[in-house]
Amino acid sequence: MVLLLLNNLCGMDTEGIVIRIRTSRGDMDSAVDCPSMLSFNDLLVAIRDVMPEATITAFEYEDEVGDRITVRSDEEMKAMLSYYCNTVMEQRVNGLLPEPLQIFPRAGKTPGNRNIHGLKVNTRHGPDNNRAPSAAETLPNNSLKKSSAELKKILTNGQINEQDIQYQEQLGHGNGGTVYKAYHVLGKRVLAVKVIPLDITVELQKQIMSELEILYKCDSPYIITFYSAFFVENRISICTEFMDGGSLDVYRRVPEHVLGRIAVAVVKGLTYLWSLKILHRDVKPSNMLVNTRGQVKLCDFGVSTQLVNSIAKTYVGTNAYMAPERISGEQYGIHSDVWSVGISLMELALGTFPYPQIQKNQGSLMPLQLLQCIVDEDPPVLPMGQFSEKFIHFITQCMKKLPKERPAPNNLMDHPFIQVFDDGNMEVVSMWVCCCLEERRAQQAQTHMS
Ligand code: ATP
Ligand code: MG
Repeated sequence: MVLLLLNNLCGMDTEGIVIRIRTSRGDMDSAVDCPSMLSFNDLLVAIRDVMPEATITAFEYEDEVGDRITVRSDEEMKAMLSYYCNTVMEQRVNGLLPEPLQIFPRAGKTPGNRNIHGLKVNTRHGPDNNRAPSAAETLPNNSLKKSSAELKKILTNGQINEQDIQYQEQLGHGNGGTVYKAYHVLGKRVLAVKVIPLDITVELQKQIMSELEILYKCDSPYIITFYSAFFVENRISICTEFMDGGSLDVYRRVPEHVLGRIAVAVVKGLTYLWSLKILHRDVKPSNMLVNTRGQVKLCDFGVSTQLVNSIAKTYVGTNAYMAPERISGEQYGIHSDVWSVGISLMELALGTFPYPQIQKNQGSLMPLQLLQCIVDEDPPVLPMGQFSEKFIHFITQCMKKLPKERPAPNNLMDHPFIQVFDDGNMEVVSMWVCCCLEERRAQQAQTHMS
């Protein structure tokens, strides 16, 4: 990604901003650390790196009503940055993650015909139309340092191809895809491969691949490790770390001392994603994975808008773990993820979905009308006596109907329930997972006998 560094605009000196360059080949995010020092020409040069095939003389951004405003000078650029900073401040006040500043390059004639600014034109060839771009191709030149580090990581993990994968048993089937346990022959490791059929154009395939690139950068003990993704015909395969305990939806009631440690991992995983400006958007027990080492990791977070949209076209329904504001079609923010943490942990504590009127027999997607009670009624509360006050308080806070009343990320980490169980003790989850798996095996053996 292009890394232009700027500072000191509207208090953004510490965090910087992200500029998203929107092109027909996909989006490029540029972390800009020092907005006040970015000149119009700097940005043009950065855009040229992303779009070497076109001569860019100006770019546009969208105002609050979606009208495009053209930027052709330093003055106009300052106006754009100042407008954007106001938007970001508003989003922050409302507890939302700031959206990147989106700009739309305006292409003139090709560089072969004309080069108005006499600027150096990058003459790298664009990617072949019939295959997805590699990580290196989707990254512009001035980020080669970063891209080589990413490529190294890809190479360490081994680029994975369909022919090197031996599929074993099916691990599960969700809304859109089937997950298999598989063995990667070259990398000599067990994988979980999620295969999603998608009838989409090559252009969309490329966009999805480029959106998934951020997964190579995710590096947290609380987030599932991403190895690779590839398209074969009309399906995408996403290869990740295999978790031998599977997902939490298939476990029965989870005791509080185990759930406490699970909650710590979930909160840390989400805090990590939020720090990368990624909202999970699909927090639920089936997207919380455990293993016999006692690790708890989040999976299936929505990094690729195109992938989420393409799946949504086939699978219609609303997720029962969605926050009330999301069910009502309002804006989505960090607070909506927090609601989903609350309802998921509550279900795991009770061993049943907290709204008794909602029967989730067929997965988590349901017709919208059936979920209306989440919008209309007071949120459920854990029964006193069976659970600690700290736990009841934590869930009650996460499941406040008004998003702004739910804990912000640092309040989540500081909550006494999380503090109590943030002791790094993986033994507890490990023992519990091993016992449950053993019980399950014994039950299966008994069923086979009878
Ligand atoms: P959705 O499609 O809405 O996410 P889901 O989470 O139930 O629903 P999938 O994501 O397709 O469905 O996952 C199906 C099942 O595969 C999960 O419930 C889990 O048991 C299993 N699974 C998924 N990823 C892994 C993994 N990395 N390791 C082990 N098991 C996994
Ligand atoms: Mg899932």
